[in-house]
Amino acid sequence: MNRFPIDEKKLLKILKDMISINSVNSSLSENSNGEMEIANYIAEHLEEIGLETRYQKIGERSANIIGILKGYGNKKTLMLNGHIDTVGIKGMKIDPFCPKYENGRVYGRGSLDMKAGLTAMLIAVDTIVNSGIELKGNVIFAFVGDEEYKSKGTEFLIKEFSADGAIVCEPTNLDIGIAHKGFAWIKVEVFGKLAHGSRPLEGVDAIVKAGKFLTELEDFEREILSKKNHKFLGAPSIHASRIHGGKELSTYPDYCIIDLERRTLPGEDENIIYRELINLIERISEKDKDFKAKLEIFFTRSALEIDEKELIVVSLRNAYEKILKKEPKFTGLSFWTDGAILMEAGIPTVIFGPSGKGLHSAIEFVDFKSVVYTAMILIETIIDFCNR
Ligand SMILES: [Zn+2]
Repeated sequence: MNRFPIDEKKLLKILKDMISINSVNSSLSENSNGEMEIANYIAEHLEEIGLETRYQKIGERSANIIGILKGYGNKKTLMLNGHIDTVGIKGMKIDPFCPKYENGRVYGRGSLDMKAGLTAMLIAVDTIVNSGIELKGNVIFAFVGDEEYKSKGTEFLIKEFSADGAIVCEPTNLDIGIAHKGFAWIKVEVFGKLAHGSRPLEGVDAIVKAGKFLTELEDFEREILSKKNHKFLGAPSIHASRIHGGKELSTYPDYCIIDLERRTLPGEDENIIYRELINLIERISEKDKDFKAKLEIFFTRSALEIDEKELIVVSLRNAYEKILKKEPKFTGLSFWTDGAILMEAGIPTVIFGPSGKGLHSAIEFVDFKSVVYTAMILIETIIDFCNR
């Protein structure tokens, strides 16, 4: 028997309310309302529960809302983190902001990614406060903006807030996410020589030279990258995302630019990524004296990996076993999360949330029961962690 019954009606109402508030990231879509309305909705709830509520403006239409549940002792502080923005709605095959509850699923944009996680956070704090249980440590409920674009919200958050452990409530199918990849965005500029199309001896074709690089890149992925392996994440990867070059039909192009994305494993830092690619460029240059290229890594986000023995993982695992009466599955996630930023700031962080399908896709839904379980497990984790 669960000692803290969840008000499922209230949970469903909050989840539906949140889905019906359009909070498409305003950097991703021009005619979006941004995050202010959902931020206000969450703030009202936190205040109603009686939490100290803080507001951080992080942009024109973007904000963080933070609720602090104060403990009476000096024990561990836990942070729960969830992003309040969603991706856009283009191409969706359901009404994005008209939530529908059907066959145990709740449909709508952001249902899974991640308004269900936010709802579980709100219900968890609500249930704890209403049960009258007092904690010895603090809980920081961080509802952050702009995760889907540049993660400004969590970057802003860590300037002011820290914790002894954190859970990012992104959807994990109720598995415990202890690793995910990072990524790097890379620019490769290939240089040629401008010439009239009728003068092949004078021109160097930057686009054809860029082709050499792309061929090498494919070999590099097959022969080097695909042979690396991480227990939970498999192999890293690289792909060309964009290519641009050339001026007009009758001219040898002097410039071609390729943007790449490299998905990284824990421990693959900027140096490693740079060295691998510069090796490719040098190898081509040795065979082809006309090949000239420049490499720049212009944005990186680190991977996440947490030891299964970390207190936050142990606490979450205990809570999971208490509620679901079975052992949790530890997993690696295919997507990147704000957890990596928290981890880099020195906060041991784990990813845990509900199940469903279709994040960023045409039909998105969350399994309702999994949101209830997420809330129940969060409650037990909070009680365990904050009394240590
Ligand atoms: Zn997300």
